[in-house]
Amino acid sequence: MAVSVGIDLGTTFSAVAYVDPQTKTPKIIPNSEGNKITPSIIQFINGKPVFGSEAESAFAASEPGCVATFKRNMGKTDVYCTIDGTPYTAEDLSALLLRHLKEDAEAELGDKIKDAVITVPAYFYSPEREATLKAAAAAGLKVKKIIDEPNAATMAYGLNNWRENANILVYDLGGGTFDVTLTRMGKDGELTSITTRGDYYLGGRDWDDRIEIILIEKFADETGIETSSNPITKAMIRGLTEGVKKQLSTMETAKVTATILDYGVASVVITKKEFEERTKDLIDRTGALCQAVLEEAELSLRDVTDVLLVGGSTRMPQVSQYIFNMFGKKPITHVNPDEAVALGAAIQATKENESYTKLSVQVMSDGKKVTDRASSGLSTRAVIKPLKKLSSIGLLSLRETTAHAMGIVAINDEGNRYYNEIIIPANHPRPVRAAKRFRFYTLPKSKNELEIYVLQGDSMNPLDCVIPYKYVVTGIQHVNKGEKIGTVIRVQYSYDENGIIHIQARQGYAEVDLPIRKDDVPSNISRFGQPVVNDQPGQKPSLGLQLGRGVSHNVVHKYKAITFSNVEWKKYDNIAFHPSGAAFNEPSVHIIANEKAIEFHGYNVSAMDEGVSYTINADDNFEIECDINTSTIQPHPGGNVKITLGIITASLNENGGQIRLDGETVVKVGPKFKLKMSLTEGGHYKVYTNGKLAGSKVKPSMGGIDVCFGLAHDEHCCHILSHAYISNISMKQRMNQNMEDDSSETETWES
Ligand code: ADP
Ligand code: MG
Repeated sequence: MAVSVGIDLGTTFSAVAYVDPQTKTPKIIPNSEGNKITPSIIQFINGKPVFGSEAESAFAASEPGCVATFKRNMGKTDVYCTIDGTPYTAEDLSALLLRHLKEDAEAELGDKIKDAVITVPAYFYSPEREATLKAAAAAGLKVKKIIDEPNAATMAYGLNNWRENANILVYDLGGGTFDVTLTRMGKDGELTSITTRGDYYLGGRDWDDRIEIILIEKFADETGIETSSNPITKAMIRGLTEGVKKQLSTMETAKVTATILDYGVASVVITKKEFEERTKDLIDRTGALCQAVLEEAELSLRDVTDVLLVGGSTRMPQVSQYIFNMFGKKPITHVNPDEAVALGAAIQATKENESYTKLSVQVMSDGKKVTDRASSGLSTRAVIKPLKKLSSIGLLSLRETTAHAMGIVAINDEGNRYYNEIIIPANHPRPVRAAKRFRFYTLPKSKNELEIYVLQGDSMNPLDCVIPYKYVVTGIQHVNKGEKIGTVIRVQYSYDENGIIHIQARQGYAEVDLPIRKDDVPSNISRFGQPVVNDQPGQKPSLGLQLGRGVSHNVVHKYKAITFSNVEWKKYDNIAFHPSGAAFNEPSVHIIANEKAIEFHGYNVSAMDEGVSYTINADDNFEIECDINTSTIQPHPGGNVKITLGIITASLNENGGQIRLDGETVVKVGPKFKLKMSLTEGGHYKVYTNGKLAGSKVKPSMGGIDVCFGLAHDEHCCHILSHAYISNISMKQRMNQNMEDDSSETETWES
């Protein structure tokens, strides 16, 4: 029976693990030398790759034909090195290493590898992830999934140390990269990564570099010889650095002896204290990133339940000390930092992949789009339950988040500046899809191609983001009168389960995708930082990505988010009869409506119908979500809360009630529930209760559509008082009044 494995494809070391079918626990598969980790180093001898300790020592001795740390160049298409006339990209080298890891593991297991989960830094952009997939394919490996290293580590840790509601900060300092990820342990083994950040250029090697600087200084003091000016001595010193660093992890001092050209044997001593002083700025950078991750998650240092150390560089005592000073608690150390990632990947390899999640975006007051964590169920702060061991790996599940926001280059409203229009915010659960609809103006006898520059990053300035891809949507049919009204193109953007970006497009409401071409991203993209140059002078630049000549009017994706307060709600009251003897100081009826809530209070009145309403256009896209609580309405004869969006109507008393769609009951509800109503595409009505679709109907309308929240009593006298509450209101509206402004979200589709 073939085996599923987990592979930690590290910058400096790699490891392979599987779940032992007997013990049902994850285990490292030792390599052919009996070691649990394999250096990510290759030496080419007469064109043949050699791995393991042989390659490692050759590399340390600066022998020719050695390559290492190629992972740092993953996703770059340029040649990483040329050995004996053969050029290799980072992907080629990774493929060779993966094939070696696979063959070693198969030999050890005496079995074939069926498929693998491979880990990558959380911070890897889409092209790096793609390159990892391609390298695996070239190595003859079937990839089940790519997961983020910190998540893998938490899975391995969580198996034996589950604490419901705990926030675990994973601090992964490897050889070349640093990643911090905040993950939450949910109910029943549900692990969710909340926020993640990384620094591509921070790792053990930077500490090695500092040792090198110190050694060069010390040898110069000792011998009067500048060792760095001679390439051979320089390489020799370089070769010593990592060993010295590791020695300082366990000893207070390290004595370094070397034969210096034109001098002879010389010795110098480095103390742990001076090493730590000379690397303080590096460790501070890790701390700043931890802070950034917490800020993004809106948590304080105290909210971190535990800090999990991953990566070989966390063996430096200064790391644990730093964490202790920062968080006031010791980090978790009983997980082997070299093995945790591969073990977690092995657990994931026994699992099915997650399904797509819904996009939930919140627009901040400054217009910035962030993940709406509340609606993705990630914001609950709850009491941490006691530590336990999960009874089986089957209980563990993982929901990962995107490290980078995905956006596109768009043109601002004034038509003079390029900006990053974020489609999927950073730290959004994945896999996730989002689709946007917009108007595209076709021309007869023209190519009618649509260019999309994808961005990864948070900044509004496209130049501060990574541009991983340029896509060109082709095959768009010219529509008569296209010049004037254009055609609708729906573009779907997704982050798949591997964190890889995909773009699809459809014309109008067609069920088939338009062909998409991937072009090279131009090497000079500085124009995105400059004012927009209009192709047709004298004309206001059309909204959208007006990029490239010959292409008519391109993309824009804009929508207006509204808050309760910037909509003009109309108050209506229709109180027919006030019974006498009202001994209340309060007004008979009042409604308090503010940003987040509507409260209804009715006092000793009868035959009333009072509330707030708002009218939208039939072709506006509108969505409202809120929490309803009508349990406080006084029984007998009671009142009814009435809620309406066009043909959706709800009538609720203290026991709940019914929701109707065009007069037909689609769901019965209790007094407390979550309600979502939407009207899109000029007549698509949908109603959801507690997150579940209760009903949908298409009914185009000509006139205005009313959105109402009201409280009604019939002709009875209401005893004392009645209350009802609608809270946590969130609304979105995309106005379609003018054609230039109709870019809006639309339904996603399966790939
Ligand atoms: P990666 O994930 O980038 O492949 P690893 O997690 O394997 O990296 O960590 C490798 C790094 O850990 C190297 O820079 C190595 O020097 C460092 N390292 C390993 N052991 C120790 C130690 N005992 N003390 C200090 N640094 C160490
Ligand atoms: Mg690692």
